[in-house]
Amino acid sequence: MNRRTFLRAAAAIAAGGGLSPKLMAGRSAAGRRTGEKGKIMTVSGPVPPDALGVTLPHEHILVDFIGADQVSPDRYNAEDVVRVVLPYLKQAKELGCRTLFECTPAYLGRDVKLLRRLSALSGLTLVTNTGYYGAAKDKSVPKQAFVESADQLADRWTREWKDGIDGTGVRPGFIKTGVNGAPLSAIDAKLTRAAALTHLRTGLTIASHTGGGKAALEQLEILKKEGVGASAWIWVHAQTEKDTEVHAQAAARGAWLEFDGIGPDSIEQHVSFVVDMKRRGLLGKVMVSHDAGWYRVGEPGGGAFRAFDVLFTKFLPALKQAGVTEAEIRQITVTNPAAAFAVGARKIGT
Ligand SMILES: [Zn+2]
Repeated sequence: MNRRTFLRAAAAIAAGGGLSPKLMAGRSAAGRRTGEKGKIMTVSGPVPPDALGVTLPHEHILVDFIGADQVSPDRYNAEDVVRVVLPYLKQAKELGCRTLFECTPAYLGRDVKLLRRLSALSGLTLVTNTGYYGAAKDKSVPKQAFVESADQLADRWTREWKDGIDGTGVRPGFIKTGVNGAPLSAIDAKLTRAAALTHLRTGLTIASHTGGGKAALEQLEILKKEGVGASAWIWVHAQTEKDTEVHAQAAARGAWLEFDGIGPDSIEQHVSFVVDMKRRGLLGKVMVSHDAGWYRVGEPGGGAFRAFDVLFTKFLPALKQAGVTEAEIRQITVTNPAAAFAVGARKIGT
């Protein structure tokens, strides 16, 4: 798609109109068909962003930290996982959640068949991802990532977008990657570059598990070199950086900030980060989540599961008490996730 047809398509979407049949039939660098542009890709197919509703942008259903060499669906019984997880998804739905982004990447326990099934059983919209997890000392990075180029890795991830994951037809709704702290290692920098290239080919947003502010800003520099705008990138675990100036710096560049460690013991800190962003006029870049769950493969009964509830029962009421309005809460729980994850290439200068 050239710039003019892109602008025409964008204008059509902005005006609320559908794309012309000619554009629908066209192929785009930012989506397999231009009809996907502006949509959210869920495990059940594309939906318009306003269908997401209240969204938890960062949670987990199942994680297996055994390492890339040994990870396999044979290590657990899917029936057991459904039995353990389904009540927590239903609970989240009863509390008002409509959509949950499952942030477990391939080689860390991503199981899209399971997600599709749990989405149907719970009535929650679920979204999965493509990409590799470079945090936690690279234990979950598969061998090929060390020998292939960023371009080759981007080809692999783009194939999942085009053809579906592992023959299921389920397509990723975002790119999940992860890095350790700064300075970025060679493999972390490569994964970031691969994510940037994949973004340009698919229009999928990048959510990166990030160890602190320096690592965040380093990734933004890599994206910039590849011509990718900061608004294509979500700083996952931004709460690990305590310097709010750095939060503001990243958000002012256009990055999305995810304060996603909400639990019974971290409410006050998460409230203070959100209130700080409000004070700076940057709430338009903030999302909140628990980073909770999950069925722990290898532990009896899936181990201790953390529910997806505190955000609704404790955190949002605490935000209101701190002066955050209903409209602002809607912005960070509904509007921002829909905008952050909508498919569309965000190139610098466009
Ligand atoms: Zn996580």
